[in-house]
Amino acid sequence: MARLRRHRSEADEQAPLRRGPAPIIELDDVTKVYPGGHLALERTSLSIARGEFVFLVGPTGCGKSTLIKLLIRDLDPTEGEVRIAGRNIGVMSDKKIPLLRRNIGTVFQDFKLLPDRNVYDNVAYALQVIGASRTEIREKVPETLRLVGLSTKVHSYPDELSGGEQQRVSVARAFVNHPPLLLADEPSGNLDPVTSIGIMQLLYRINRTGTTVLVVTHDHSMVDKMRRRVIELYEGRIVRDETSGGYDSDESTNEFAMRMRAEMGVGPEGTTNGHSDELI
Ligand code: ADP
Ligand code: MG
Repeated sequence: MARLRRHRSEADEQAPLRRGPAPIIELDDVTKVYPGGHLALERTSLSIARGEFVFLVGPTGCGKSTLIKLLIRDLDPTEGEVRIAGRNIGVMSDKKIPLLRRNIGTVFQDFKLLPDRNVYDNVAYALQVIGASRTEIREKVPETLRLVGLSTKVHSYPDELSGGEQQRVSVARAFVNHPPLLLADEPSGNLDPVTSIGIMQLLYRINRTGTTVLVVTHDHSMVDKMRRRVIELYEGRIVRDETSGGYDSDESTNEFAMRMRAEMGVGPEGTTNGHSDELI
């Protein structure tokens, strides 16, 4: 039994989030009170299944980023339990946390790229820090840059890229290890509407590879048109959790982009998507 358990935990070390039937994200009666007494989340419960695409919306200060930080144990809940793939991350030992974070890609509004490294090296860095082999890096980085449509920009530095391109690098970096879960906190917060559609298309494409995607956004028109599950927070409580009736899970990435552009009234020429070297 002891030996069996050891074997099992070794397998878990490799891919702790990739197995098992549990929802990928569960919050069970989670309350977060910041030092100083501010109540950021109040008795929040939710469950997100593997493979879902979910928006998290609500006004500034309602607790969206707090919720994201709880999922990567950047913050600890004051009360309640956060489970990732069925595991209560509150009782995970500190040395397991890097492994948890390795399995959760994160994208932020401000890109967080390394300014002194080019596009290739920014993405490669995410694999280097987890000890990937050079062969793996040489294979996965170009493949992921192709996926995000940046094959022609591998040698560019962040300050030579548009905001939309920088965010694509940041998405590539988050996805290069093919995590089962990707969290994006206002990924299009600094981008114009046309560029935002491109980023949403990219997240949609990533979701279609099987990765669960949770996106925080302020952009109501985008959310309405994406027709995916929407969880709304207001003053730290969930006030809405619904799946849109128009949900079409078979929509291809290109169909999705065409529909979004049509519904948002922008022409294909203005977008940064539709690359011929897309993988999916
Ligand atoms: P959102 O991302 O929805 O804009 P946040 O989760 O960042 O909201 O913040 C929720 C509330 O908690 C806000 O009122 C914010 O001011 C407060 N808050 C966020 N971070 C801290 C902190 N480190 N210390 C104290 N209060 C904080
Ligand atoms: Mg926020």
